[in-house]
Amino acid sequence: MLIKIQSETPKFKCNACGSCCSHIRGIIPKEDREFLKEHAFGKMPVVQLVPVEQMTFPLWDWEAKRFMEWQNEAGVDANIKPLRAIMDLNSNKAIILTYFMDGETDACPFLKGSKCLIYHTKRAYVCRLFPFNRGPFLSHQGMTLKEELFGECGAMEHILPQVPDNFNEMIKFLNDAFPDGSFINAVQNDMVIEWANRAIVGLVRKKIIKPAMNHPYNFLLKRIENAEKIGFTDFLVESGCLSKEEMKNLIERFDDNTDANEKIRQFISL
Ligand code: SF4
Ligand code: SF4
Repeated sequence: MLIKIQSETPKFKCNACGSCCSHIRGIIPKEDREFLKEHAFGKMPVVQLVPVEQMTFPLWDWEAKRFMEWQNEAGVDANIKPLRAIMDLNSNKAIILTYFMDGETDACPFLKGSKCLIYHTKRAYVCRLFPFNRGPFLSHQGMTLKEELFGECGAMEHILPQVPDNFNEMIKFLNDAFPDGSFINAVQNDMVIEWANRAIVGLVRKKIIKPAMNHPYNFLLKRIENAEKIGFTDFLVESGCLSKEEMKNLIERFDDNTDANEKIRQFISL
């Protein structure tokens, strides 16, 4: 009698070494670093406000608001500052898309020993998606190598060699192999990036904003520094693009990974 041996998908298990939270300064994938250096210093509507080497994980504006509260509860000073902004010449406001934690060391200010002081909260996408750098959908058209999906993580050794090359098989595999939710968080974060990009293009097309572009970078930086600042999602509400309730519901949808679940389900059912 033939016995069919079913190969089990290996499961990722974070061993809580804390390494991904202990070096967060300047740690960004090589291709993102090159893109930022080429485009993000005044050539595009969204302007990077600090050198790539100084930046740490980007926090969406609503995540940064939560981190500002949690830092008080946790008794830490995360020194949260704007990371990327649009200088809007219509409203004369600097619209802050993302923030970052500019702590004293290159470790996350919320890391104590190898423990995260706010692990019990939703934290930020960037905390919840590791060991992923990104999900596979945004990069699919550009045929990003599967290795580029992941950051440096010792617990990935037995998973990485088994990730299938076939795209549909890879999605199914990743969905099974990451019961910690990191895969789904990576997919949702990419979808939030896409949403933000579409929202910015929509604002420009409808002439709701007029981003300052192609000015000397230092001039742009000074102008942003001196301008009144507003978070991106608050701006969407203030400019009447979304009601407060709609924005709240959208953030809940992001938090629940609703879009990512729907997207992945399409592949699982194939
Ligand atoms: S995700 Fe990887 S690097 Fe981060 S704490 Fe877990 S095992 Fe360590
Ligand atoms: S908030 Fe917690 S999980 Fe996120 S980077 Fe800091 S220590 Fe790591």
